[in-house]
Amino acid sequence: MRVLITGGAGYIGSHLADRLLAEGHHVVALDNLSLGKIANIQHNLEHPGFRFVEGDILDKRLMEQLIEECEIIYHLAAVVGVKHVVSDPLQAMMTNVWGTGVVLQSACDHQRKVVLASSSEVYGKTMKSALAEDDDRVQGSTQVSRWCYSTAKALDEHLALAYHRQRQLPVVIIRYFNSYGPRLDPQGYGSVVAKFANQALDDQSITVHGDGQQTRSFTYVDDTVQGSVLAGTVEAANGEVLNIARAEETSILRLAEMIKDMTGSSSDIVHLPHEREYGENFEDTSRRVPSVEKAERILGFKAEVPLAKGLEQTIGWFRNQR
Ligand code: UDP
Repeated sequence: MRVLITGGAGYIGSHLADRLLAEGHHVVALDNLSLGKIANIQHNLEHPGFRFVEGDILDKRLMEQLIEECEIIYHLAAVVGVKHVVSDPLQAMMTNVWGTGVVLQSACDHQRKVVLASSSEVYGKTMKSALAEDDDRVQGSTQVSRWCYSTAKALDEHLALAYHRQRQLPVVIIRYFNSYGPRLDPQGYGSVVAKFANQALDDQSITVHGDGQQTRSFTYVDDTVQGSVLAGTVEAANGEVLNIARAEETSILRLAEMIKDMTGSSSDIVHLPHEREYGENFEDTSRRVPSVEKAERILGFKAEVPLAKGLEQTIGWFRNQR
């Protein structure tokens, strides 16, 4: 198949490209290189099945052309990472709302299947465990910029479902849960895992926000990619929303301790108020645990990589980058 990956030079997009190329597909990777990096796709630039296009999803004409040429679109391009979103909410919303609108409209015009990357952030600040895809979303105030990412992704989901129901667009929505692995930004803009791993390797203080009792369900990138590929291939997923996650709940303090141990670092673990990183008027998400039942039932997907093993791979990769 001929596959278009928007955000194809990004952290997840580039891993997805590797996997699809290995399966013999042709991959066009579109990226505006705002967060994506050539280094992530360097090894594929000479591959006969791979083409990189530097461009933006807001460019309607370009999108029309690329979408017409492919059979399926993995739409991963987005402004991601809490730090990026709170520092430039305008850019985040332009890309995450209008950009997705351009992709969906064009995909609909050409009746091309879309796998839309959404996020566990959509659930907001609910404390429920085993979050199911049809559970309520609990959102904070519009005066707290953090929630614009959640709101934008929810709007994308509504838009995709409306195109599906009213215009017969084949679409699958996948909600990623704290994906981590090689190629994460070492500054940790997109993930606490990258931040802690690099702090530990540098023997600098590991900066836990608040008491560190907030939890996440970290999903190794190989699993994230496996779930994404299945979403694009399993016919029964059409029109569905699916959590792509591993249901292993870990506190941020525990994550810091694991990374400190695994790196053999002499770093101390310090606690900082969230405001130091994200400014005043910030709200964190205290708990985020998925139900994985639906993805298992519909896709036959089960995330396999335990946190300790995934962290080993990720830390090893960061070590090699030095
Ligand atoms: N976090 C932290 N120290 C850091 C960076 C992040 O304690 O240096 C915390 C952050 O406040 C949040 C959790 O780690 O509670 C996950 O943050 P991340 O930005 O990775 O993703 P999120 O799930 O919040 O989108």
